[in-house]
Amino acid sequence: MTKLAGSCQCGSITFSSELEPMFVNQCNCERCRKMFGVVQASAIFADHEVEFNGEPSIYTFEGGSGGKIHAHFCPICATKTHFYADALDGLVGIVLGTIDDNHKYPPNSEIFTNYKLNWLKDNGCITESFEEAAVYERLEKVIKSLEDRDIL
Ligand SMILES: [Zn+2]
Ligand SMILES: [Zn+2]
Repeated sequence: MTKLAGSCQCGSITFSSELEPMFVNQCNCERCRKMFGVVQASAIFADHEVEFNGEPSIYTFEGGSGGKIHAHFCPICATKTHFYADALDGLVGIVLGTIDDNHKYPPNSEIFTNYKLNWLKDNGCITESFEEAAVYERLEKVIKSLEDRDIL
């Protein structure tokens, strides 16, 4: 059963998953800000847990931790729908704004708070904040959430 679905603005790229995200992360780094606008908030899944339809274009850039991030975007409407980060191999981040019902997925962790815009406040949803990339801590969350998955 589909638990989460979404699309780019024009609908050429769609995606769905039978699972809930492992966690929802907000990245405050300046590279993501330039790329995704204000903050990059994304729902994190194992890459095989999400089914994508459509033919996205790919743009690769250097993320806040220096590792490469491969942003996938619609060649028609230019919406960035998802990305893969070399630092988090095997995972995919679904850009929160492209998820239907995205109100259901407030970020519960954030990274690069040392670059956070000073007018951006956390409304209580974020339980873990890291000044830098916190790759190890995020992998720990992945491993922890894998134990709760029915399907692996
Ligand atoms: Zn589109
Ligand atoms: Zn970032």
